[in-house]
Amino acid sequence: MKRNLYDLSFEQVENLLVEELNEPAFRAKQIWEGVYKNLWYKQEEFSNIPKKLREKLWESFEFQSISPIKKLESNDQETTKILFQLNDHKAIETVLMKYDKRNTLCISTQAGCAMGCVFCATGQMGFKRHLSAGEIIEQVMFFARVLKSQDEKVTNIVLMGMGEPFHNYDATMTAINRLSDPSGLGLGARRFTVSTVGLVPMIRHFADEDRQTNLAISLHAVNDAERSQLMPVNVKYPIKEVMEACKYYVQKTNRRITFEWALIAGKNDSEKTAQDLANLLKGLLCHVNAIPLNPTNQFIYQASNKEQTQKFQKVLEKNGIPCTIRLRRGIDINAGCGQLAIHHPE
Ligand code: SAH
Ligand code: SF4
Repeated sequence: MKRNLYDLSFEQVENLLVEELNEPAFRAKQIWEGVYKNLWYKQEEFSNIPKKLREKLWESFEFQSISPIKKLESNDQETTKILFQLNDHKAIETVLMKYDKRNTLCISTQAGCAMGCVFCATGQMGFKRHLSAGEIIEQVMFFARVLKSQDEKVTNIVLMGMGEPFHNYDATMTAINRLSDPSGLGLGARRFTVSTVGLVPMIRHFADEDRQTNLAISLHAVNDAERSQLMPVNVKYPIKEVMEACKYYVQKTNRRITFEWALIAGKNDSEKTAQDLANLLKGLLCHVNAIPLNPTNQFIYQASNKEQTQKFQKVLEKNGIPCTIRLRRGIDINAGCGQLAIHHPE
């Protein structure tokens, strides 16, 4: 079986070369630079390696395990979504957003998701499988190549595509480590934001690791009855425990947490709810990212209108809690938050 190159650390590549292919160790550096600095993935691109060895490498390693099979461009001209097919014919989606002088990638960590949030298309499709670290990395490498051809670079990465990153913790962190390593792509850890539904033990573990990567928590409700209705995981990890884990995170790391809030008309967008939210977050180093709900097939509620959205924001800000309203983007191609799902049969 071929090994996916992106699943391997530098040391693993070096060992495989020396022990299995009888090659000198220095070839590992050439391959690594080719892949992560030059962004090569085609056999003929590796001009720094003899042709014979290239052929041997291609017999042992996979240089592209996820294949782009569909590209959708939004009318806003700023959002591109790619559907990738995985080796086992499952599929994932990845989104590039070009705005605010940033090239932000929204990448997936799982095919589907096991958390079942009712407002989210990925939750609605259920869990298919975890992605490997390599499959997470490859999404970034693909767009790094696309952007390079436009003389641009990936500037930010949000782990907010399909899946729950803290349910696939090790692969996710391995991917971030490798992508942020200066010997590789060298995207600083601060450029990543990992978003979680609120898996309390993993929030604490993440805090203990004291990483520079940003943390976002999907909150969406201030009381357990309402949150459990929207997000079944809340039954296991209720709001109080999530908030305690968040406090622990801030104490440990002194980093600001982002709380995500999908504004659902008539459900969680009243000024009273905003005040309850302000009371819940008071004293915590944080800010709120509110986004009017994006439409999905199986959730009948509507997004809050502009007026209500602004009222909600005002209440938070009056209470000293910064709140940004995120614009909805890529809705016409189902590339907005919570809209990623594979509708075609596998
Ligand atoms: N599983 C992680 C990350 C992926 S979802 C998490 O849930 O945090 C990324 C963000 O989109 C989360 O904040 C999620 O709550 C939000 N989201 C899901 N469905 C949405 C929808 N229909 N409209 C707006 N935001 C949504
Ligand atoms: Fe999974 Fe996040 Fe969607 Fe919830 S919102 S179902 S955790 S991807």
